[in-house]
Amino acid sequence: MTPLLALEGVEKRFPVAGKGMFSPARSLAAVGGVSLSIAPGRALGLVGESGCGKSTLARIATHFMDPSAGSVRIDGRVLKDAAPHDRRALRRSVQMVFQNPASALDSRMTIGDQIVEAVALAREGARADRIAERDRLLTLVGLSPTLADRFPHQISGGQKQRVVIARALAARPRLLVCDEPLSALDVSVQAQILSLLEKLRKELGLAYLFISHQLPSVRYLCDEIAVMYAGRIVEYGPTAEIFKAPRHPYTRVLLSAALDPRRSRREETAIGEPPDPTALPSGCPFHPRCPHAAAACQAKRPELRDIDGARKLACSLF
Ligand code: SF4
Repeated sequence: MTPLLALEGVEKRFPVAGKGMFSPARSLAAVGGVSLSIAPGRALGLVGESGCGKSTLARIATHFMDPSAGSVRIDGRVLKDAAPHDRRALRRSVQMVFQNPASALDSRMTIGDQIVEAVALAREGARADRIAERDRLLTLVGLSPTLADRFPHQISGGQKQRVVIARALAARPRLLVCDEPLSALDVSVQAQILSLLEKLRKELGLAYLFISHQLPSVRYLCDEIAVMYAGRIVEYGPTAEIFKAPRHPYTRVLLSAALDPRRSRREETAIGEPPDPTALPSGCPFHPRCPHAAAACQAKRPELRDIDGARKLACSLF
């Protein structure tokens, strides 16, 4: 089956100014050669610490940002090679849900008008049809159409995130890229939004690239997990298998942090801070923090390789 979204060898570098007048310009490798794919109706969780490249990858997947190298395919097609009409349709099929619903919405427009605007951008139609579609979308995300005349400041944070999702759905996408969609919400509301995403997946057959540092949420929603460290995928596999038996030392630290907060604090302290992305360590970039690092780990960066079944791992010792 052709993947709905396929990233192949995606890299992204940003220029970084040198510190002094005569210092050479450097570049920051935000994403360093990532390949992953998502089949229709599947949910892939992308996890890792802040600054590991998750959000950059999300922007590349949704064509908000071009990669420095590599390709992004939607339904097997590279966007820039498609005819203009097909390009628009391909672009619409992948939509983004941002982290902070308050800043994603326009405070000067009613929520109804913001959805109508998204519907109008997606396809032609009479005003009455757009209003009917607005009401359908509001209902789909669990909001009453009577809220359409409210402004963003007149609704709660959870309702705002539902509006953001409704607006993304106006394009009738097949895949939603959700970049930390729960982190700006209260804990009780997070569970409701997570249930909504699962409901939409069942009803619409949506696929997700779900980026979150909240591993219990990833475990609930996602079929597969990709663990990212310093711009690269270091472990990948079915969610149940990764949670049952994580192989990469970094995945183990992440899981212990998520599932046992008391233990996590000790382990996180023990392994120190993430590396400077402008000066990544030699060999395995995790070696300065890895409790299992051996001399060989500093010499050669382990490539992501197939291990058991559908799993992949980038570690030379496990
Ligand atoms: Fe740790 Fe070595 Fe594996 Fe890197 S390659 S994760 S340093 S054991």
